[in-house]
Amino acid sequence: MLKSLIAETVRWQANGLRLNPDLKTMLDDLPKTPAESLTDEEKATYQWQMWTTDFGEIGQRRLKNSSVLISRCGGLGSVVAYELAAAGVGRLVIAHAGNVKHSDLNRQLLMTHGWLGKPRIETIEKRLKELNPRLEVVPIASNLDDELAEKWVPQVDVCVGAAPMFQERFAMNDACVRHRKPYVNCAMYDTAATISTFSAGGKPCLRCLTPEVPEHWKREFPVFGATSGTVACMGAMEAIKLLAGFGQTLERRVLHFDLREMSFQEFSLDKVEYCSVCRNHG
Ligand SMILES: [Zn+2]
Repeated sequence: MLKSLIAETVRWQANGLRLNPDLKTMLDDLPKTPAESLTDEEKATYQWQMWTTDFGEIGQRRLKNSSVLISRCGGLGSVVAYELAAAGVGRLVIAHAGNVKHSDLNRQLLMTHGWLGKPRIETIEKRLKELNPRLEVVPIASNLDDELAEKWVPQVDVCVGAAPMFQERFAMNDACVRHRKPYVNCAMYDTAATISTFSAGGKPCLRCLTPEVPEHWKREFPVFGATSGTVACMGAMEAIKLLAGFGQTLERRVLHFDLREMSFQEFSLDKVEYCSVCRNHG
């Protein structure tokens, strides 16, 4: 199996083909105007990622001038936030309520034992700024609802959904469609995870994929930090590509994987004509 996969990959590379040759660049999601310059410290810090093909210093200047809204900063969102802080995104707006509990500590990597019983959002901001003191953090000590989404979505360049509750995901999705913002949706359960990126124009949007809260959904579910962290790193990379304008995102695609067997599957996603959210937005 592995041998045939390697052989196939070599064949694709030899022919100059991509796995998904029909994908197009997301014209709706043109990247942010780059910051005017990088300091010497920033150049030293981001040197290794600026070697990435099609990214370079211009990509780094775009990240510096960019902002991302992250809904929940737990097992999934904390790794998204940490990777985006490490990559040099200029501003993170983070919504996360509650105090640190023991049961957070197997996966919520911005929470620490020493912060048990204290507000999660405070340790989130503290730890992110320890990593990157240049980062601007806008801490919101509440979980995202329609009102907060309506306020903050228009003020950022990309949104990342990492909440366990569908109501919070729908609040972010619906505001992203209204305000034409790209939305990276990451989700996991047990050892499986799903990720997709909805472009600034909506169509499809999250509601095309999941119109209502699934009946079986529960607030608490099995999770290893390694599973939530895997899909979180993918989500961070989707945000970086959107902000810097390189590569191809999961627009109109859903990637599903299960780390129990290391199986990865990809599905295409079309807009749903009768979607209650994106149908009326052009
Ligand atoms: Zn829709």
